[in-house]
Amino acid sequence: MGVSGSNSTDQLGTIGSHAPVLGIDIGGGSVKTAVLIDGHAVAQTVGPRDRPITELLDRLVASAVGEHQIVAVGAGIAGLVDARNGQFLWGPHLSDQPIHIARFLDSLIECHVVDNDANFAAYAEWATGSASDHRVALTVSVGTGIGAGLVVEGAIWRGSAFAGEVGHMRLTETELACPCGRSGCWETLVSGRQLGLEAGRLGLSPTAEALAAAARGGSQQAVDVLRLAGDWLGVGITNLIMALDPSVVVIAGGVSGAGGLILDAAREQIASGLPGAGHRPDVEIVPAAHGRWAAAVGAALFAARRLTGLERSEEKRQSE
Ligand SMILES: [Zn+2]
Repeated sequence: MGVSGSNSTDQLGTIGSHAPVLGIDIGGGSVKTAVLIDGHAVAQTVGPRDRPITELLDRLVASAVGEHQIVAVGAGIAGLVDARNGQFLWGPHLSDQPIHIARFLDSLIECHVVDNDANFAAYAEWATGSASDHRVALTVSVGTGIGAGLVVEGAIWRGSAFAGEVGHMRLTETELACPCGRSGCWETLVSGRQLGLEAGRLGLSPTAEALAAAARGGSQQAVDVLRLAGDWLGVGITNLIMALDPSVVVIAGGVSGAGGLILDAAREQIASGLPGAGHRPDVEIVPAAHGRWAAAVGAALFAARRLTGLERSEEKRQSE
């Protein structure tokens, strides 16, 4: 996959620096796209995830080629993604059947890159968002579920392959069922899916957005639900800070739209719950500059890097 070897680096650099690129974020509940030129979004779309992943990719790539003449695609997908081979393996909100995304994209466009959606979100926030200038930047994406991405000195940290599946850290003994098949996972306590269920119980439209709107409208019940979710967000982030020691934690994804309604409680929980807090540097907890678009923007930025060969040379350097 990727750029053909027959072009010179100079040509690719020229193409890559100004050519339109498409980022696609396939999440548990929705599909977002961003078309970037020179790093700036010129078009963004959001729609339901209403058909199989390959059909979505087929439609979105064809549309962006036709409308914007895009020349590279980044596809971010929620779940276990083998970025090296461009293969989706498993995602509790999407499918338990492996899909060779890169092989499918080969039939649509020459230059493409595939990764976990939270990794792309983390890259976007490090490259052009709230985590720029940070050496160790953690981005926690709270959408339908929770995923995290860690960028260390400008490179996505993958572990052996699948680092960042933090939504399925078990944080409670209760029997809250998770789509992964277990119970008590972090994302059963705070996620778009969970807040949607809570909104439904309050008689609202079953979305996190409806819950946040009700809270802003003065509903104490909605405020309390969001505060509790924020507490749990803080508990999970505290654990991640202890394990990874980032200098910044960025909150991205759809739920980040609730802003201070959730983030204030999370910050208080971290300030009071982080062991040795007075003896370590403060960790900034900040909303994503790219908000719910972070993964789509990061996918497009990474596609641009693949186009210019930057990302390939970095991979080579890391494997040496
Ligand atoms: Zn789970």
